[in-house]
Amino acid sequence: MKTKKPNIGVIGVGHLGQYHTKHYKSITQANLVGVYDADHARGNEIAKTHNTKFFNNLSTLLKECDGVSIVTPTESHFDVAKMAIKDFNCHVFIEKPITTTLNEADELIELAKIKNKIIQVGHIERLNPALQGLKPYNINPKFIEIQRLAPYTTRGTDVPVVLDLMIHDIDILLSLVKSEVETIHATGVSILTESVDIANARIRFKNGTVSNITSSRIAKDKVRKIKIFQENLYSTLDLLLEQTEIYSITKDPKKYSKAIKTEVFNNKKHIIYEKPTLKKRDLLNVELKNFIEVIKNNEQPVVDGIEARNALKVAIQIHDMIIKDLK
Ligand code: NAD
Repeated sequence: MKTKKPNIGVIGVGHLGQYHTKHYKSITQANLVGVYDADHARGNEIAKTHNTKFFNNLSTLLKECDGVSIVTPTESHFDVAKMAIKDFNCHVFIEKPITTTLNEADELIELAKIKNKIIQVGHIERLNPALQGLKPYNINPKFIEIQRLAPYTTRGTDVPVVLDLMIHDIDILLSLVKSEVETIHATGVSILTESVDIANARIRFKNGTVSNITSSRIAKDKVRKIKIFQENLYSTLDLLLEQTEIYSITKDPKKYSKAIKTEVFNNKKHIIYEKPTLKKRDLLNVELKNFIEVIKNNEQPVVDGIEARNALKVAIQIHDMIIKDLK
C-alpha cells in the first residue's frame, strides 16, 4: 500500500459517483485523493462540493491511488478497470454490473489474480437489512418470487433492464440457492427504450428450487419484494422498507418467547410469526467501508469479481433468450 490509509479515487462522478465521493470523504480509514470524470465540468463541480481535487487526466489520478471506485456507465467498466489494475496496480470497486460481457469479466478476474488485486462489485442489495434478517433461519427455498419495479429514468438505460435491475436479484438469488442453474425460461418486451424494459425469468436449479423474477424500469411505483417458500417456512422481504417477516411452523411453541405471536392450525401445527428488528444503515457507506477494510486487511469482499461474473452469466443467458424470443 502506498500509505497506511489507502489512497482512494473515484472515477465517474455522475449520479452515483457523487455519493461515493461523499462517503470516502467521511470514511476516516480512507484518504480520498480526488476524482476524475470524462465530463470535466461535472468532475470539477463534484470535487469542489466535496472539497477534493479534480484530476483532468485519469492516469495522474491512478498513479496516486491504492484503490478506486469505478462509477462510470457499464460499457466503460472494463477499459477503466483494466487500466487501473494492469497499468497502475490498483484495487478496484466496480459498480454493478461488473462488465457487459463474460469475456471482459473473465479477463479482469484473471488480471486481478496475477496482480494480486481485489475486485469488489457494487451488488449493494446483499447488505440490505431485509436479507440480513434471514441469517438466523435455515433458508432452503423451494420457490422464490422476486419483483423489482422502478419508474423510468434515463440513467442505466445504456444496458437492458436485465443488466441494470434484474442483475441485483439474480445476485441475491444465487446467494440464497446453493445449487447450479439447470434451466432458464425468459420473456420480455421493449416499451420505451430500444432495449428490453420489462423482463421475466423462471429459473430452475439442479436441487429443484424454482424462482420467478420480474423486473421493470417503466413502472408507476417502486417495488422491491422477495417471497420465499420452503418446507415449514414462508418469508416475505421488502427491500425498500428493509423489512423481513417470517412465518414458520413449530412443534415446540414453548421455546419461543411470549412476545412472539403464535397461532394453532388444526390443533396440531403452531404457526410462529416473527418480524425481526433490523438496524437501518447507509448501505453505500457500509459497502465502501468494507472495500477499505478489504484493501487494508486483504479480506474477502462482500461480493467479489467471481460472484459478480456468475450473476452476469445468468443475466446474459436471460437477456439472450428474451432477444431470441422477440425476433
Ligand atoms: P451517470 O450517467 O449518472 O454517471 C456516469 C458518470 O461517468 C458521468 O458523469 C460521465 O460523465 C462519466 N463517464 C462516462 N464515461 C466515463 C469514462 N470513460 N471515464 C470517466 N468518466 C466517465 O450514471 P450512474 O447512474 O451514476 O451509474 C454509474 C454506474 O453505477 C453504472 O454502472 C450503473 O449501473 C451503476 N449503478 C449502480 C447502482 C446500484 O444500486 N449499485 C445504482 C445506480 C447506478
